[in-house]
Amino acid sequence: MTLKLNRPDLLKSKCLIDGQWIDADSSEEIQVLNPANGETVGHIAKCGTAETRRAIEAAEHALLAWQATPAATRSACLRSWYNLLIENQDDLAAILTAEMGKPLAEARGEIVYGAGYVEWFAEEAKRIYGDVIPAPDGDKRIVCIRQPVGVVGCITPWNFPNAMLARKLAPALAAGCTVVCKPANETPLSAYAMAALAIEAGIPAGVINIVSGNTSEIGAEITSHPAVRKVSFTGSTEVGKILIQQCASTVKRTSMELGGNAPFIVFDDADIDAAVEGAMISKFRNAGQTCVCTNRLLVQDGIAEEFSSRLTERVNSLKVGEGTQADVAIGPLINDKASNNVLSMIDDAVSNGAKVLAGGKQASAGERFVEPTVLSECTSNMRIFKDEIFGPVAPLFRFSTEEEAISMANDTEVGLACYFYSRDVGRIWRVAEALEYGIVGINEGAISNPAAPFGGVKESGQGREGSKYGLDDYTEIKYMCMGGISST
Ligand code: ADP
Repeated sequence: MTLKLNRPDLLKSKCLIDGQWIDADSSEEIQVLNPANGETVGHIAKCGTAETRRAIEAAEHALLAWQATPAATRSACLRSWYNLLIENQDDLAAILTAEMGKPLAEARGEIVYGAGYVEWFAEEAKRIYGDVIPAPDGDKRIVCIRQPVGVVGCITPWNFPNAMLARKLAPALAAGCTVVCKPANETPLSAYAMAALAIEAGIPAGVINIVSGNTSEIGAEITSHPAVRKVSFTGSTEVGKILIQQCASTVKRTSMELGGNAPFIVFDDADIDAAVEGAMISKFRNAGQTCVCTNRLLVQDGIAEEFSSRLTERVNSLKVGEGTQADVAIGPLINDKASNNVLSMIDDAVSNGAKVLAGGKQASAGERFVEPTVLSECTSNMRIFKDEIFGPVAPLFRFSTEEEAISMANDTEVGLACYFYSRDVGRIWRVAEALEYGIVGINEGAISNPAAPFGGVKESGQGREGSKYGLDDYTEIKYMCMGGISST
C-alpha cells in the first residue's frame, strides 16, 4: 500500500550530500519495510565509504561559512525549520509510523517533541556566551570564547527516527557545526524527510548531509576521517563502545546516549494511582522500545499486591495492533529478532519461577507483535533483571527496605533513567541522591523534554542532550590570553 501524504515529495529514495539528492555509486538500494505488515514503505540509496567521504568533505567545506554565519541568522534558519516540521507533522508522523510501527498518536508526539529541540536550540544559538576571567597578572586579561567543534558525525537508532536526530542536529547547527548523519537502516525515511524541510528552511547546502547503507563502512569512515571532530551516537552500549574505540585513533570527542535498565521503585508510602499511571507511561510507550523505559518494577512488600493488581487491570486494557488503527496503544516491535528476543526473555523468567499476570506471548495481531505483559515474582537471576527488555513487558520484583531498593536499583552497569514514587520528603532526597542514574523521575513517569538535560552515567554514556547544557557538547572553549595591558 502506498503511503498517502500531503507532500509526497517528502518521501525520499536518495541520500543527501552537499544539498544534492544522490544515488549510491553502486545504484544499490535498501528496502524499508513496515514492521506492522512486512510491506515495503520505500527504498533508499545504499551508500558506503566513498559516499560517506564525500559527505564529510561537503560538511568540511560548508563549515567555514556556517560557523561564520551570525548566530541570529543560524537561529532564524532553525526557527523556520521548526515551523516547517510542525506544519508537516501529519506527513512526518505517517512516514514514521509506516517505517517504525509506533501508534500514529505517538508518532505525532515524537514529531512535536523532536521539533521542540529545534525550537529550543534556535533560541540557545543566540546565547553562546564566553567569559572574561580576572587574570593573576595585572598586565594580562583572560578571555574565553566558545567555538563550534567542527564537523560532527551523528549516528541514530530506529526507535525515535525523528527525535533522536533532531536532538543532535539542533544543537550542532545552533553551535555552528556541520553534520554527516547516519540514520538506522530500519528507519532512514524520517531523517531524509526532516532534511528536505531543513533545506526548505534555508539551511545551506552541505550543512546537513545524510548517508545510509553499509553500516560498518559508514561508521568506520565517520569515526576515522580526520575532518570529523566529534561523533554523537544514540544506540546500544555494545556499538557505543566500538565507536569510542574507533574514535580514539583521531581523538574525536564523543557524546554517547547508550542503553538503560531503568528501575521503577514504588515505596509503601506512594500514591498508588499516580504510580500505576507513571508505570504505564514509562513502561509501555513505544511498546517498551525506549532507552528510558522502565525495565524493572521494584515494589515494596506492603503495597505489592495492590499495585500489581491495579497495574495488571490497566495493562489488560491496552489495545494491540497496527499503528494506523484507532485507539491502538501497542504497535509491533521493530523486527523478528526484537520480538523473538522479548518472547525468549519472558520464557526465561517463567522457567525461573515468574508468574504471568497479563499477556505473556505473541499477540494475535501478527508477527512482531507481543502481548503487553505483567510478570510477578521476578528475581535478580533472571535475564529480565540485567538485560534491556525493549518490549512491552513489566516484571515485578519485591523489596522490603529502602536500602534494599537502592541496592537492587544500582545493581547494573548502566545508569540512564530511573523512577521512584514516595510522598516522604526525607526519603525523596535520600533515594534521589543515592541512585546512580543521570535522570531521576520522582513521582513522574514522563521525564524527557527539550528544557531538561538528557543523558546517563556509567555505561549509559557521556554528554547531555537538550537544556542549557546541551550546547556544551558541540562547542570548544578557546582561551585567549591578552597581554601588554599595562601602560608602563
Ligand atoms: P539498536 O539495538 O537500537 O539497533 P544499535 O546500537 O545496533 O542499536 O544501532 C544504533 C545505530 O548504530 C544504527 O544507526 C545502526 O545502524 C548503527 N550502528 C550499528 N553498528 C554500527 C557500527 N559498527 N558502526 C557505526 N554505526 C553502527
